[in-house]
Parts: sequence; structure tokens; C-alpha cells
Amino acid sequence: MSETDYREAWEASSTARILPPARPRKLAKVPFVELADGRLQGVVSSGSDIERVYVSSIAAGDYAFACSTNNNRPCGGARGSFCKHLVALVDEASLQYGAERVARYLRVETPDGEPTAQALTSAMTATRPAKADATAAAPVFSRFLRHLAYLELAAATAPLPELQWFPPTRTAAA
Ligand SMILES: [Zn+2]
Repeated sequence: MSETDYREAWEASSTARILPPARPRKLAKVPFVELADGRLQGVVSSGSDIERVYVSSIAAGDYAFACSTNNNRPCGGARGSFCKHLVALVDEASLQYGAERVARYLRVETPDGEPTAQALTSAMTATRPAKADATAAAPVFSRFLRHLAYLELAAATAPLPELQWFPPTRTAAA
């Protein structure tokens, strides 16, 4: 997907008309997470701006990390080490997959016992991982859009309040 396609998909989605919720709802902190392409990656909502999301990723093995906005702007917090979005990503992945599976996938050695999200994050940041470029962000974000489209279809009769900030897809709006 080219950068233009990517921007178009985003803009088409964000300009679709929806009924505003009665009162602003909080977006799920991490609406999308996956273990794919040799990375833990996903979409993390901005704490302050409901229109903005971050696409964050951590590579297996060397924990090279990347974090940028859906508009391809680098995350200011992810210069030297993991930003809060990457920490949130590890937390959510550990909830969804179990910290042990995340540790195995990323090849993280944690101290004895059941790993926790926090132990994973400390073990990875202790290795002083390098910053990766953000080339993976566009495909991750486009999978997130497809994931939302799927949810729209699968749950047509059951509204997902936490996703109301995110308008219906192009197909649904056409
Ligand atoms: Zn970030």
C-alpha cells in the first residue's frame, strides 16, 4: 500500500458521517495488537487526542522499536527507549496472548517464574535496543482498518461503543 493509498484510506474513514455519541467515549487504549512479521506490533490510542493513534512495534530478537502516528509522524517519546505506547503495547499483548507467549515470540529471557508484562519491558529495555525505521507502520495500520471493517460486519447488530470514535469504512459509507 503506497503512502497515498494509506492516507486516502485514513481520510475516507475519518470523513464518513457518523452520529456523534452522546458524550465522548474513551477509546480502548490498544485497539489492535498482533504478533506478526517477526514483531509485536499494534495501534495505540493517544492519551490526549482522540483523532490520533500511534502505530508501535518491537522486533523479535533485538527489540528494535518504532513508534509513529497514523500520519507518519515520529513519536516524540520513542527516541532513546520505549515510549508509553510501546509499554502499553506490551501490556495489552500480555493480556491477549499471555506474557509467556509474548516472551517466546520476542525471544525475551525473563527472570525465573511466570513472566509479566513489566518484566518483559524491563528485560527488553535493559538491552538498550535500537530504534527501527517506521516502514512497518503503514501495513500494520492498514490491517487495523481491515480489522475494524471485519468487526463492523461481524457485529452489525451489536454496537461497539469503544470503537465509535472510528467511523465506518469506505464500503459501509458508500
Ligand atoms: Zn510512542
